[in-house]
Amino acid sequence: MQPVLIVEDSNLFASLLAQRVQARLGLETERASDLHETKSRLESRPGGYFAALLDLNLPDAPNGEVVDLVTRHGVPSIIFTGSFNDEIRDIIWSKQIVDYVVKESPQTIEYIVDLLERLRRNQSIKALVVDDSRTARQLIGSLLRVHQFQVVEAPSAQAGLAMLEEHPDVKLLITDYNMPGMDGFEFTKAVRMKVPKNRLAIIGVSAHGGNVLSARFLKSGANDYLTKPFTSEELYCRVTHNVELLEHMETIQRLSDTDPLTGLFNRRYFFETSAKLLAQARRENLHCCVAMLDVDHFKKINDTFGHDGGDAVLKHLGNMLLRRFRQSDVVARMGGEEFCVFAASMEPDYAVEIFEQVRKTVETTPILVGKRMINCTLSIGLCRERLDSVDAMIKAADEKLYAAKAGGRNTVLG
Ligand code: GH3
Ligand code: MG
Ligand code: MG
Repeated sequence: MQPVLIVEDSNLFASLLAQRVQARLGLETERASDLHETKSRLESRPGGYFAALLDLNLPDAPNGEVVDLVTRHGVPSIIFTGSFNDEIRDIIWSKQIVDYVVKESPQTIEYIVDLLERLRRNQSIKALVVDDSRTARQLIGSLLRVHQFQVVEAPSAQAGLAMLEEHPDVKLLITDYNMPGMDGFEFTKAVRMKVPKNRLAIIGVSAHGGNVLSARFLKSGANDYLTKPFTSEELYCRVTHNVELLEHMETIQRLSDTDPLTGLFNRRYFFETSAKLLAQARRENLHCCVAMLDVDHFKKINDTFGHDGGDAVLKHLGNMLLRRFRQSDVVARMGGEEFCVFAASMEPDYAVEIFEQVRKTVETTPILVGKRMINCTLSIGLCRERLDSVDAMIKAADEKLYAAKAGGRNTVLG
């Protein structure tokens, strides 16, 4: 990872910043204390900097000259200044910067580090800008690039729809209203038919019409709205706000789908997703298989190695199962020491072979927990024919599991 360049003549502020950047982001920093030194640093590091933190007032550059120098080198720049007024604000925003901060409290440093973290995340976020005006498109595109987004552009709604097909990972869409052919509302509605609000944020933009257009954009499915002309600062606030909301929603979704101990999917997700996979298997007349796996005498493991030891075993087993099966299969922790796998398009004979391998691997691989080796075994019940519902398949697999337990454990029955 490229380092962060800190340009600041105050030793105290610079070293506090460097410490926090290193501690929170694990990024190296380099320091320059005036314009001259900044110039030589930029020239001697062809790989460039991840970002620059710039003091607006330097001994040899009292009027923000350092900002022009650094942005010319294409380094995303965050400005800090001791004093602030409207004139300074206009000067700052006339340059292509990420943001500015007024040095006034310890929170300033955390704000700067938050921004750096935001930039780092933005690097993996794709944004699409749709506008028939090339100038407007390029302006928004270049502002988003300063904030490190991966930007793709389209000159019409139709081209935008094609672009979304080509880049299904787009998370942020900024669209103009007034475009020949399909307008921004129709476009937004068409996109919303395909992608829900928790996967793609749409920000509508228009020059005139004010409140009426904003309401109509929102009713068409947009998350937010901007009136032209807007300031860079306003665009950035709205973009960041919307991207953060998407991330919060992703976090909530992940938490509701997974088991916190093992990171595997949970029971609820298992039922929801397996039902879809089963319906698909039925339509395409494919095989599928459900396996219930239960750790043998797990209580004894807890008794011998403590609850933490038991937890470590569950984590290890979860990881092993995740690695063993395909992305298209669903591996879940159903509760306690019980796992379940829905394997899509798995041949019945192959299923026995695969789960027999799983059983054998667990039997023969002691798990290292701290300094102790823990041996454990699994009993596995299989349902190898496609039944009418996931419930029915789980019930059938459970019966086999019960029989495997009754028959002496450490076996696969199916
Ligand atoms: P069997 O071979 O018949 O399956 O015996 P068992 O002891 O594995 O089964 P039983 O269902 O009687 O006990 C399961 C134990 O798993 C009881 C419970 O305390 C423990 N357990 C459930 N969830 C967790 C967990 O998250 N962590 C740990 N460490 N133990 C758990
Ligand atoms: Mg058990
Ligand atoms: Mg059990």
